[in-house]
Amino acid sequence: MRLPVKFTDEMDAFFERHKDIPSEGFYESFDLEGQKGIRFSTMKTDEEERSALASSLSGSDEKVPWCSCGFYAPNDISNNNPYYHAGVYYPQEPSAMLPAEVINARPGEIILDLCAAPGGKACRIGEDLKGEGLLVANEINYDRSKALLRNIERTGITGVVILNETPENIAARLPGFFDKILIDAPCSGEGMFRRDPGAIKSYEEYGPAKISPVQQQILDSADICLKEGGEIVYSTCTFCEDENELGIRSFMERHPGYEVISHPEIKGVAHSAPSSALPGSMRIWPHLNPGDGHFCVHLKKKGIRTASSLPSFVSKGLKASERGGIDAARQFLSDCLNSSGLKRFDGKQFALHGQGIFLMDFDEKILKGLKTVKTGLYVGDFRLAGSKTVFTPSNSIALTFNRCDIREDSYLALEPSSDRITRYLKGETITLTDEDNLKDKGYIVIGAGDFPLGLGKVSGRQVKNLYPKAWRLI
Ligand code: SAM
Repeated sequence: MRLPVKFTDEMDAFFERHKDIPSEGFYESFDLEGQKGIRFSTMKTDEEERSALASSLSGSDEKVPWCSCGFYAPNDISNNNPYYHAGVYYPQEPSAMLPAEVINARPGEIILDLCAAPGGKACRIGEDLKGEGLLVANEINYDRSKALLRNIERTGITGVVILNETPENIAARLPGFFDKILIDAPCSGEGMFRRDPGAIKSYEEYGPAKISPVQQQILDSADICLKEGGEIVYSTCTFCEDENELGIRSFMERHPGYEVISHPEIKGVAHSAPSSALPGSMRIWPHLNPGDGHFCVHLKKKGIRTASSLPSFVSKGLKASERGGIDAARQFLSDCLNSSGLKRFDGKQFALHGQGIFLMDFDEKILKGLKTVKTGLYVGDFRLAGSKTVFTPSNSIALTFNRCDIREDSYLALEPSSDRITRYLKGETITLTDEDNLKDKGYIVIGAGDFPLGLGKVSGRQVKNLYPKAWRLI
């Protein structure tokens, strides 16, 4: 591969300065095919299921050493598989799995992913929060924020807000709010050269000199948003020292009181070499192990972290028609879910945005002035038809259900390799068989085996397909 001269000059100088980092094979690694990977939902699968699914989907159950739910994938991972549509897995380049593992999200934490689209890392963070706490996933580019929304919805994670904002605006409105912040920064993308020919063109336009000041600005905003005692994980997919070790040193000089959290040695992750400008930082080198180039560092801000709390949502006075809409939404939930499923919604408040009904985890007035792409959990829409209230559930709510929480007569488990599931994903009507023991009228959840995919509406032997048009297989 023909690499930019500016890049090879920079890397020659880098390896000259860091003789303790092996350079042999570095340039040759750009001619190798990029390593593929697959990461499973930590919410929907356990360790045993993950290994079995990795083998059947990609032909190998070899784990990525730095990611507890990630596997190397020797073969292409299809996005046409029903398990993908059910949010069971996400094809992800192995090195890109490191930052969300390092941030180690714990239920109850309030976490900001500042540069989130398309969302591989945000999805993992949301899964690890298990619906407790809050993930604010931000993407500055509106078109990319739509891809982020789709990926988040597919995982079925709850407790997520998606913003389309600048880091500066978030800092102005939410100072000292977050326990942890992920900055998977826009960068010169040198680690992407071998995978994406467009990355070289983009490097020529937005090389390190242009992007380094942007990274510093993002870090400064993150500092404002972060609580005392909070943590930042900063990562890039570039080799350039100015955007990595030296960039973080410059940030730490401007903001004294941060320290690097060192992580135990992990196979395949090069912990800082003795000559590193930032002891404790980590790199993944494409010539030393399978995976693209990546940099990651975990920082801690001085101080004691206080417990997180979110203001509760209190429903305002509603018109009778709106109360009717909410009652219809509740009825839909009771028709589909068993008592354990309904428990999840205990104490949750419903809010209305126009005709849309949302379940609220907290009062979103704290987000005032910020552009939101997604707030609350969208349950569905209502409308009045004469004196009747008609409720149409959203498909995305079905992805948030667990199989064990759905009533037996409201769940149609389709074989992942069956013709019926392909037809469902294409938006066609499904015909019930004698073995399908379902209610004869109303909404049901349709799943790939035990993993909910979406909704249908039964009428006799036919199931009307409610899988959204934009999500369908073509
Ligand atoms: N974390 C993402 C994931 O796992 O899928 C990948 C993020 S990508 C490396 C960097 C993102 O930063 C891009 O989506 C880009 O639109 C966004 N970005 C670009 N300039 C930015 C800025 N000034 N502030 C915040 N984000 C920016």
